[in-house]
Amino acid sequence: MIETDVIVIGAGIAGASVAAQLSATKSVTILDMEGRAGYHTTGRSAAIFSENYGTVPIRALTRASRTFFADTPSGFCDHPLLSPRGIIYLARANQLTTLKDFEQANLGVEHLTQAELYERVPYLNKRNIVAGLLEVGGFDIDVNALHTGYLRQARNNGAELLCNHTVTSLGSRGGNWSIATTRGLFHAPVIINAAGAWADEIAILAGVAPVGLKPLKRTAAIVKFDRPINRDMCFLNDIGENWYCRPEGSNLFLSPEDEIPSPPCDAWADDMDVAAVIEQITEVLDLVPVKVESSWAGLRTFAPDHIFVIGFAPDAAGFFWLAGQGGYGFQTAPASAALAASLVLDTSLPDYLQEQGLDAAQFSPNRFWQGKGNLDET
Ligand SMILES: Cc1cc2nc3c(=O)[nH]c(=O)nc-3n(C[C@H](O)[C@H](O)[C@H](O)COP(=O)(O)OP(=O)(O)OC[C@H]3O[C@@H](n4cnc5c(N)ncnc54)[C@H](O)[C@@H]3O)c2cc1C
Repeated sequence: MIETDVIVIGAGIAGASVAAQLSATKSVTILDMEGRAGYHTTGRSAAIFSENYGTVPIRALTRASRTFFADTPSGFCDHPLLSPRGIIYLARANQLTTLKDFEQANLGVEHLTQAELYERVPYLNKRNIVAGLLEVGGFDIDVNALHTGYLRQARNNGAELLCNHTVTSLGSRGGNWSIATTRGLFHAPVIINAAGAWADEIAILAGVAPVGLKPLKRTAAIVKFDRPINRDMCFLNDIGENWYCRPEGSNLFLSPEDEIPSPPCDAWADDMDVAAVIEQITEVLDLVPVKVESSWAGLRTFAPDHIFVIGFAPDAAGFFWLAGQGGYGFQTAPASAALAASLVLDTSLPDYLQEQGLDAAQFSPNRFWQGKGNLDET
């Protein structure tokens, strides 16, 4: 039996980042059911940072996270975590209204003349793509360095990461949680539920009302084409959100931007979905596919309002939600973890979060119970 101040369930980017913060002052144990940290959604992302992505509170978390990305603590990582990657939004003739609406609604996007567009995207099919916008403030995130940096920071602070530990039951008595796993029993006054697609299932195990999380499958693949792709090419995004792609070495990383409802599981790519997105991309880029190097899928898990769920459950003392990271878990991780840590430690929200208009109430699980009266009825 192990006793710690905090048990974090889930060693993805959410669990790793909050464990790094809390372990500075608390004893922390991280439990994950898989043989290695980051096996599920965290190991399957597109690794992009965009301040124009997500709902208003998500954008604020992304902006606040720039502080950490720009000034990463020494010893966290020996190279910058962000490297510039322009994002180009492309439109066919029938998508010009959507492109104009996007330009008006978002910051930091510039209209590209056709000459500029064709210069930046050398393979563009000029018959099919007629206009584009450039977001200059986009970045690639070194997601592996970010995730392993947080795990190293946690370990250096004395935290323990235990893989192959599936949480099977949770019970609370006298302000202390008992957490049963496939490899032993743990006790802690605080549990952080960072279980990604399984976060509602963890809540149910604990007798806490679920918040209605929806895991949505997204497919991705790395494809070799008849020509090596220019490594400096921008991230290309269909303005209708039907596909995106980016250079990955001399190949293309691509996704159909699918959102297929799924139970929590080890998601996998359907070959038909990969074939369909290759077809879409070869309509707009004059490239011939040679080989699918690899393909996979991951679950992007959303709360009903597409805002993260961060805060203590109103119906169970010591049960803390850190869930619903959707498609933004990396670009928001520094600020989400700081917000979560300030709530767990009951300290004031750091200034750089407040300066972005962030407020803990926006993310609180309480929002799902307001007006519902008795929690037992939900
Ligand atoms: C194709 C794709 C593209 C993406 N692109 C981007 C992007 O460009 N930028 C960005 O910021 N984000 C992106 N994301 C989103 C990002 O990857 C996620 O928001 C993030 O990884 C979620 O992290 P997490 O820690 O919440 O979940 P996970 O990584 O899934 O971690 C949850 C962990 O909980 C563990 N667990 C579950 N149940 C139990 C249990 N009973 N006992 C013990 N352990 C348990 C699991 O094993 C898992 O390791 C993308 C996602 C996908 C799929």
